[in-house]
Formats: sequence, C-alpha cells, structure tokens
Amino acid sequence: MKAICRVLLLGVCILGKVVAQQDSLMMERIYTASFENGKAYENLRYLTKNIGHRIAGSAKAEKAVLWSKALMEGLAFDRVYLQEVEMPFWDRGEKEEAYIVSTKEPLNILSLGGSVATPPGGLEAEIIEVELLSELRAQGNKVRGKIVFVNKPWDESMVETGIAYGLNSSQRSRGPVEAAKLGAVAYLFRSLSSSPDDDYPHTGGTRYVNDIDSIPALAISPVGANKLSEALKKDSATRIHIVNHSAWKGNVTTHNVIAEWRGTDKPDEIITIGGHIDSWDVGEGAHDNGTGTMGTLDAIRTLMKLDYRPRHTIRLVFYMNEENGVHGALQYGETAKANAERIIAAIESDAGGFAPRGFDIKSSAERVNWIQQHWKPLFEQKFWVSRFLQGSPGVDSGVWGRHFPNTIMFNFRPDPHRYFDIHHTAKDVFEAVDRRELQSGVAAIASLLYLVDQQIDQLP
Ligand SMILES: [Zn+2]
Repeated sequence: MKAICRVLLLGVCILGKVVAQQDSLMMERIYTASFENGKAYENLRYLTKNIGHRIAGSAKAEKAVLWSKALMEGLAFDRVYLQEVEMPFWDRGEKEEAYIVSTKEPLNILSLGGSVATPPGGLEAEIIEVELLSELRAQGNKVRGKIVFVNKPWDESMVETGIAYGLNSSQRSRGPVEAAKLGAVAYLFRSLSSSPDDDYPHTGGTRYVNDIDSIPALAISPVGANKLSEALKKDSATRIHIVNHSAWKGNVTTHNVIAEWRGTDKPDEIITIGGHIDSWDVGEGAHDNGTGTMGTLDAIRTLMKLDYRPRHTIRLVFYMNEENGVHGALQYGETAKANAERIIAAIESDAGGFAPRGFDIKSSAERVNWIQQHWKPLFEQKFWVSRFLQGSPGVDSGVWGRHFPNTIMFNFRPDPHRYFDIHHTAKDVFEAVDRRELQSGVAAIASLLYLVDQQIDQLP
C-alpha cells in the first residue's frame, strides 16, 4: 500500500513539474515576444501625442474611444463593440490663476475635478490654514468668508506611495463640503505629490452634496503651498486672489470600449481585463492610464501572436470616466448583472507603466496562498516579479465587482516610487514612460492572464 502511494505521489509530483515547466516555457515566449515585438509603447505614443489628454465626455475622449475600437478590430477578437455610458460632463474652461495679493506672487493651482467656478473676475479672501479637516470645526466662526487651505505634507516614510496617497485623498473629496458647512468661500488643497520640490499642482476628483453650498475647490502645488504657508506665518491676514472657470456642462453620452476573444472550452465564463481610457485634462494621461489600456491590449495581442487559444472568454474593457465619477464601471457592472454573466476573474491595470512588481489579489487567503505557491515562483526567479499579496482590486473592477463578490480580482502593481510625482499633472506625458519597463509589464500581465485561463479551475 505504502509503495503504491509513493508511486502515485511521485506521479503527481512529476506531472506537477512538467506542467510548471510548460508554463515556464510559455512565459519565456511571452516575455520574448513582448520585448521584441511589443506594440504597447508605440500605441501609447499615438494615444498621447496624436490624441492627447482625454477627460471623459470631451471630444478627445470620444476620439480615443473610436481609435481604440479600430485597434481592437485589427486583432483577432470575435466581437468588438461600444457600450453606451451616460454621464455629466465637467469642463475646466480657461486656465486658473492665483496670486498673493500683497506681493503679487503667483501660485500654481489647478481646479479639482467637479469644481464650480469663482464669481466672474475671481474672488479674494483671507486664508485659514489647517493640516486636517478635523481641525476646522474648532475654528468655528473664524472660517466664515475665508478660503480654507488644507496643507498636509506627503508622508515621506511610506514605501507604499498608494497608501500615502490614500491617507490624504479623502481630504480632497470631502474638503469642499466640510469647508462650506462652516461658511468658507473656497477650498485650497495641497497637492497629493510624493515630490516635495514639485511646483506642479495635481488635480483629482472632489464632490459636493445637496443642501450645502458648492464652493470653488482647487489644488495648489507643493511649492505654492509652502510659499503660502510662509506668507501666512509672516502675516496671518494674507489674502489671495483666485480665478477659476470650470463648470458642469450637462449630460453627454460616451462609451466603454469592449472586445471579446471567445473561449474554446468554457465560452460562457469570462475573464475581464483592462483599465480606464479617460484621463485628466492636463498632461497626456500617459501613466494614468494610457499604459494600462495599451498594456492590457498588448498582453492579449501578444497571446494571439503566439497562437494561443483561450479556454475561457477573455473580455477586454476600456472603461470610461474612472477619474471623475466611474460611470463606465457602473454601466459595465449593471449590464453584466442584468445579463447574469459569469465573470470568473478580473485583471486591471491602473497604477502606471513602471517596472512590474506583481499583483494585489482580492480573494480568500487560501487562494492567495495557493497562488503564492504555484504562480509566484514562475514570475520571481526569471522575471523579477514577486508581489502576490491579498489586497484591493483596481478602482473600476472594485466598482462593478460589487455585483460579483466572488470574482477573483488581480490589480497590477508596478514599482510605486515615481507614480505620484506625475499623477494627475501636466508631467504625465509619453516621455515619462520607459519602453522596456512598459513591455515588461505587458509580459507580466499576459503571463498572469495565461495562468488564470489555464489553471483557475485548480484554485482552492
Ligand atoms: Zn487612473
């Protein structure tokens, strides 16, 4: 009996090794194809240089939609289509201006996404500076008629820049409402930048609520925030002048772009992969999120060029408006739910196109352990990709995933150190992306997609 078991175990062991060897060889082919013949970088060049930034609802965003659709139609997908998305359109209008009234010293500011305009000609007021919104209440009546200035420096100690960002991003979204409740006339927010010497303001979404006045809300560069804080130390009655023209422009119809590569064994089981196609309306939306869209598309193209045939249906989704309301992901989720689709896995890329480090996984600890045992070694030794940890999905997957709580979700994690230097700024341009790093990420994503498609049924 014992001897039979040993033989059986040996068989399982040898079989396991053979499978791992096949996977390893496939991944080598994927990496070689991506480095030698990858198209993500050149597609990104077109998207950023010929189309440019593309805030959801704009003509450029629609141009990006149609161009992406044509790109997908040029590949071996079985079906390519647009999914309508209704959303309100927010437009920045003419460039913002700000200066310290006494010295005329200019300050670099950017309207936060969703902000209302200042009155015509701008507004001028004294400042009330705090690090945290929670300090505002104690100021009571002193806030009335002033500009609330939240000046919390970036936490330099964090290796995980995404966590440093997350620590403070709620002050960006909740700030205008909290300030307006106490009678403030505008909201000025120190940019979420990991670079302390940065004179670029970083935009990002904010929001209002019914029954509380909507006040103009703007981001100020770290250098500008330091200047203003110094001026306030010398003279607490320092006034600034700000002009902002942004406004909501009513509803528009825009689109998610979707392509499907039909599975051979289980075509009704879907693996969703993609990222958001919109960007903020400064820079070129290169790392956020040209690399995510062009990268996931190229991961699939690479598998196609290697004559791979997927077992499950692979569905590529370019979501619209992750940045200013996640309307595309909401629509995707509602449609998939209404159609009672079986989405068994999701992969999202929306953290930049720097050198790949791994994937965060939204699933049970048991499944993450299994992946660490079986897939991580394939990535780690040859390809320098080693992070496979339980974590959050990407923003878009997280939104539609509320309808699909059991779907395993992978969130692509490239190196995090430089992302928040350029995130949501004029610096997020094609030149900030390295071809080799990008194609290495494409290969990591294609490898994961291959492993998910081949082995998802073996997960515990
Ligand atoms: Zn993004």
